[in-house]
Amino acid sequence: MNFHVITLFPNLFDSYLNDSMLKKARDKDLINIQFYNPRAVTKNKHKKVDDIPYGGGPGMVMMAEPIIDLWSTITKKTMREKLPLTKKRKFKTIVLSPGGEKFTTAYAKSSVLEYTDIIFICGRYEGIDARVADITGAELISIGDYVLTGGELAAMVMIDSLSRQVDGVLGNKHSLEEERISSHEMYTRPAEYSYKGKTYSVPSVLTEGNHKLIDEWRKKH
Ligand code: SAM
Repeated sequence: MNFHVITLFPNLFDSYLNDSMLKKARDKDLINIQFYNPRAVTKNKHKKVDDIPYGGGPGMVMMAEPIIDLWSTITKKTMREKLPLTKKRKFKTIVLSPGGEKFTTAYAKSSVLEYTDIIFICGRYEGIDARVADITGAELISIGDYVLTGGELAAMVMIDSLSRQVDGVLGNKHSLEEERISSHEMYTRPAEYSYKGKTYSVPSVLTEGNHKLIDEWRKKH
């Protein structure tokens, strides 16, 4: 799975995407992540990438041109690069937006099945000129009902969740919560843990080895 991220702040991704599960997935070429900065291609002589909003109001809006230039380059250049076997490239473009459709695991799963390349466009300031979504045919996606400072965190959340759906990333396919009965309430050793004079015990059903009862318990917790 190939992720392309259009962002003014690529350094924000360094720590999260270069550690743990995502680092391993990148090292094994199961996922591939590339960054593109509108500031590097803006034709504005002062390297500006934003301007005041039409109609007035506070804040600045990211200009369409540098983003569309990058998007065109990614789609054209990447399209020419062959994938292993006979797989054909299929792109999806996503504009991160607090007003967009809500991101879910079901969305992650179907996207990974259908597409080889996902382009994320991360907004900053008051957002992105709406013509970017029109021209690219992007889906507007939100990661929750709150407003973040920029789309970078939202893109990282989505890359994490999407990557879990890529074959081989979790190592053991049974690690996917959707593939098994899972509970939010998990325990590990020791079976009894004492804190400030009180003992906290693991529910006995989990230690007794009856898998039918364990599954029933997990459905409820
Ligand atoms: N008033 C703007 C709006 O409603 O789009 C808020 C812009 S916000 C300060 C800047 C950028 O952060 C957005 O363009 C978007 O890319 C990103 N963003 C903020 N909250 C988000 C969310 N919940 N989900 C996805 N992206 C978000």
